Amino acid sequence: MPWLLHAFSTRGGGASKGPAAGLNLGFTESDSRKNVEHNQRLFFMRLEADLILLASVRQVHSAAIYLVVRGRSRKIEYLPSGFTPATKSGDRQPAGDALMTDEKGILLSVRVADCLPVLLADVRRRAVAAIHAGWRGMLHSIVEKGVGEMRRVFGSRPQDLVAALGPSIRACCYEVGEEVRDAFCGRFPHGDAFFQPVSQERLNQPPALPHVLSFLPVNPPGHGADDDKKYRLDLVAAARAQLRSAGVSPSNIEVADFCTACRTDLFFSHRKEGSRTGRMLAVIGTKPKSGTSELTASE
Ligand SMILES: [Zn+2]
Repeated sequence: MPWLLHAFSTRGGGASKGPAAGLNLGFTESDSRKNVEHNQRLFFMRLEADLILLASVRQVHSAAIYLVVRGRSRKIEYLPSGFTPATKSGDRQPAGDALMTDEKGILLSVRVADCLPVLLADVRRRAVAAIHAGWRGMLHSIVEKGVGEMRRVFGSRPQDLVAALGPSIRACCYEVGEEVRDAFCGRFPHGDAFFQPVSQERLNQPPALPHVLSFLPVNPPGHGADDDKKYRLDLVAAARAQLRSAGVSPSNIEVADFCTACRTDLFFSHRKEGSRTGRMLAVIGTKPKSGTSELTASE
C-alpha cells in the first residue's frame, strides 16, 4: 500500500545514554530534550515522514479516542470522539489513548514501553488509527471501541480493516494480580482466556542462595500463596479477541512477535527497566501527495 506510512520504532541507534540509552522517542526525566528531539528527527527522516504533522495525546490508560484533523493555519486539532470526555478547547495535547484520521499528511503516534500499540488501516476509505493499550485500556475495550469509532466516523467496514500489533510485554513476562483477572472476568464472558496462572512452585521458591537451608514456610502466616495469586496477562490475545468481536478478520491481523521485557536489547521495557527507561513510538498515517511542500513538522 504505497499511500500508507506506518512503523514501530526500536531502541536501536539514537543519541540517548543512561537508562533510556538508544533511540528514546519520549520525554522522560532520565533524558534530555535535545537527545529526544534529535532521535525524533532521525526516526522521521528514516521514515521519510519529516514533513508530516505529528499527532500525539497525553496517554492516561483510558478509552478516550480523538479524531485528528488539520484545522486553521494547518495546526492539528483533536476532536473528542464517542468515548472521549469533552476537553478544554485549545488543549494542544489532550488526554487520551487513541487517535484516528482520514486526512493525508497527518502521522498519528502513540508512545509505548511495554503497553501494546495497535495500528489500524481501512484500505478502502484510507483512514487510520493508532491505539495505546495496556491492561486498563484493554479492560475499557479501547481496541474494539477504536474499530467502532472508525465505522461510525469514516464508514469503515470491518472487512476492510487491517491491524498491526507491535512489540509489547507478552504473557511470558506480564505478571498481574488476581484483581486484574477478576476485572476482566467481570467485563468479558471469556475474560479468563487471556490469563495463565503463574506456577505456585515458582512463587514459593526461596531465593536461590547457596548454602542456605530453609525449614520455615516461605510465606509469613496469613500471607499464604492463596492470598497473592499471580497470573500472566496476554495482551495480544485480548487485542485479537476485541478485533474479532468488532468484525476484523483474523487473517487481517499481523503481530510483531517480540516481548519488550525479554528483549531489552531491542526495546524499552518499563517493567524490566523502571520508569526511567525510554519510550518507543508506533506511528501510522497517509502520505501527503508527492511533491507537496505545504506541510511543516510540528507536534
Ligand atoms: Zn517476555
